[in-house]
Formats: sequence, C-alpha cells, structure tokens
Amino acid sequence: MIAELVAVGTEILLGNIVNTNSAYLSEKCAQLGLSVYYESVVGDNRDRMKAVIASALDRSDVVILSGGLGPTEDDLTKEVCAEVMGLPLSEDPHSRKRIERYMKEYKKNHPDRRVTSNNYKQAQVPEGAIVLDNHNGTAPGLILEKNGKTAILLPGPPNELIPMFEESVFSYLRKKQPEIICSQVVKICGIGESQVAADIQDMIEAQTNPTLAPYAKTGEVHLRITAKGEDEKSCKKLIKPVVKELQKRFGKNVFALDADKTLEESVVDLLKEKKLTLSLAESCTGGAIAARIVNVPGASQVFTHGFVTYSNRAKRECLGVKKSTLKTVGAVSAKCARQMAKGGCAASGADICLSVTGLAGPDGGTSETPVGTVFMGCCCNGHTITREYHFTGNRTKIRQQAVASALVLLRECMMGEVEE
Ligand code: ATP
Repeated sequence: MIAELVAVGTEILLGNIVNTNSAYLSEKCAQLGLSVYYESVVGDNRDRMKAVIASALDRSDVVILSGGLGPTEDDLTKEVCAEVMGLPLSEDPHSRKRIERYMKEYKKNHPDRRVTSNNYKQAQVPEGAIVLDNHNGTAPGLILEKNGKTAILLPGPPNELIPMFEESVFSYLRKKQPEIICSQVVKICGIGESQVAADIQDMIEAQTNPTLAPYAKTGEVHLRITAKGEDEKSCKKLIKPVVKELQKRFGKNVFALDADKTLEESVVDLLKEKKLTLSLAESCTGGAIAARIVNVPGASQVFTHGFVTYSNRAKRECLGVKKSTLKTVGAVSAKCARQMAKGGCAASGADICLSVTGLAGPDGGTSETPVGTVFMGCCCNGHTITREYHFTGNRTKIRQQAVASALVLLRECMMGEVEE
C-alpha cells in the first residue's frame, strides 16, 4: 500500500519551523510496511493545497496530512480535503461537546482570556468521517475514506499529532496493511564503503525480501537488512540468514548487530573481555578519541589516562618523546607516534596506549608531509606497531577520520590482527 505525506503550513516553507511531523510519520509508515514515495510541504494557500492534495490522492492509497486544522481563517486542510473528495461538511455533535468542555477548562485556567466562536469551526467534519478525539488540543483528527482512497488529517502540533497517531491511527493503518517491516543493522569497520558494496553486489542483485542497503558513516559502513512479513517473528526468520552470510563475508570487521551499538562501545567491550586497560596519547585529535571512549557508560573500568600532547614540549615531558626525534623527523612521523605510544604506556601503566600525531591543516603541509597525513602508534602489552594514514577533506573531516581510524586500529590490535 502506498502512503504519502503532506505537511501543511507556510511557516514550514519559510524555515520558521522544522518539519518534524513528516520525519516522525515517515518512520511510522516504514514500521507499518507502507511504501512512501512522495512527501510534500504546502503553504496555507487554498489553490496550491487543492492541487497537492488532489495529486497525492491520485497517486497514493493513503494521504496523511498534518497541520492546518486549527480555528483560524488560514487553517484550510479539512475544507480543502473535503472539497477535493466531494464530502460536504456538517457539525459533529460529539466534537462540539468536546470542544465546549475543553474551552470551559481553558477559561478556568485563563479567566482573563476570551473564548472565540471560531473554535467551533473545528467541530465541522466531512460526511462519513471517522473522528479522532484530540486529548491535547481542540482540533479533532479525521479519517476520510472515499473510492478506495483515504485521507488522514492530523493536527500540526507534534504534542497533539504524536499521541493521536499512537492512540488511533497506527492501529487503523495496521488493519489496512497487515504486513509489517522489520530491519536490522550490521555495522562494519576497517573496510571502505566501495569495497563493502562490491563484496555484497551479488546479494544486492538477488534481493527481494529482505532487501539489503549499505550506507556509510565516517570510518564505518552500515548494512540495513529490511524484511516484510506478517509479524516480527516471520521478519526475523527472513533476516537471520542474511546476517549470517554477512558475518561470514566480513568476519571480525563486523563490530555490531544492533543499531544502538557504537564503535567505541565495541572497543570498550573488547577491552573488558580481554581484561585490558587503555590510555591515549593524542595530538591532532585533541582528546576527541578519549571523548568517544568516555561516551560509553562504564568506560572507567578500562580507560585510565588521556594525554593531550599538542606541543612538542608536552610530547617530551608527558610521553618521553626524544628531542632528537622531534628535531630530525618531526612530530608528524611514525617514529614520534611509536615513542608517544610506548611513553603513554610507561606513564600510565595501562596495557595499551594508542597515539595519534598528524597534520589536520589547513596550513603547515609540505610535499613530503601533506595536510591529512596522520601517524598512529599502538603499544599493546609491550609490542608497538605504527600506521600511516592520508586523510582528505577539511580540518574537521580529517580529525573525524583520524578518530574513527584510531578506534578501528585499537580493535584490530586487541584482536591480534595487526602486523608490523
Ligand atoms: P492549531 O490548532 O494549533 O492551529 P493546526 O493543526 O492548525 O493546529 P498549524 O497551525 O499548522 O496546526 O501548526 C501549529 C503548530 O504546530 C506550528 O506552529 C508548529 O509549532 C507545529 N507544527 C505544525 N506543522 C508541523 C510540522 N510539520 N512539524 C513540526 N511541527 C509542526
């Protein structure tokens, strides 16, 4: 079944408010297994609303509208929908009573304010409408059905729209669309997006149900497997063999099978599992790796020290980097990264120290050491390795990539997957 979303309100077009209603409704439609091909925003203009609603009802089975149900002259959603669907309006006694009650309460709380008669415009409903009570405002929601098409009209304020959707619309749509959609994410690190896409090309080409879609995040590739089925159990049954196959193909590069699990969490989990403690010696990332690690609740059990050694002096004094190293090969070098990692272990007493030193730019690059050059060292139980990276993009992007690569390198070192 095809659903379409129409958000009504000039203030959305002007950028005065963010269209969070459509984001919320899109997510719910996906959960319900409805296909959403179009979403639009239209201002409070009768002719343009008429055109948008008519074409939405023409190409989709269900159109969910938000906003424009209020009492004022420019709240036109109900009137325009009724006109497009050919449904005359009349007063709904139940809604009239409910609005009267609501206004009585309102008057009690705001004795100095006037209750205006235009509020009762909200009790007018199109013929045959299913009326959805609004427990958080005056405008009722409405479901209009005609010639196999459905329009669902919801109030604009999210604190009215969301409870109304959860209380009545979700179950209404569930009955119309008995199939549901479930998805699972497989998160991969240490491999680029294009390689991942190439490695699953055959699976993507063969997909029907479930479908498989990759998307990239800095230093990570996420694969979303989405299945349609009559219930959660049947969806999970379809998803399981795909997850298994992905685990087979990507092995230890899979760091999470849960949408909420982060890369830093998988690092902290590994540290705990292997009973190792961690310290960090950061230069160009300025503590950003430590910040990711302490995002994880319980990181204090495994994370001991974070050295932010931005200057050469700090590298010497805190980590024992040799003066001669800084003088001959400089701070952005494999040698410096190695000494930082070793020195970090010695100074902290931690089992592991990961170091990062690099050039995030925009200035300071040379032909031998261009902007984006980053060296990392990892001293793990007395054994130290180094890595050289060349990241691209602006300063922020380079630093973000360095942080993600550091977390990936930490995982690999702990899993014994790195060679000198
Ligand atoms: P009211 O009875 O409050 O007038 P309404 O159904 O007529 O409700 P609108 O007048 O269109 O809705 O919007 C009222 C408020 O609801 C907006 O000022 C805004 O704060 C919020 N709102 C409307 N549409 C959206 C949207 N698409 N996303 C997020 N918030 C919205």
